[in-house]
Amino acid sequence: MDYRSIVTTCPYCACGCGLVLEVLDGRIVCTLPSKTSPTNQGKLCIKGWNVHEFV
Ligand code: SF4
Repeated sequence: MDYRSIVTTCPYCACGCGLVLEVLDGRIVCTLPSKTSPTNQGKLCIKGWNVHEFV
């Protein structure tokens, strides 16, 4: 079982919130907000929380 956390930026709007994609065996299974991003400070809007569904 291969589990990775990928730090990236939300693609939906110009705010550029930081998020973390949780990847299990090559498949994105969950989106979490970046707690260290100064933009969103551990928060996401509903679109950001569902980035993994979009991908
Ligand atoms: S999480 Fe929401 S506010 Fe932040 S960049 Fe994505 S769409 Fe914009």
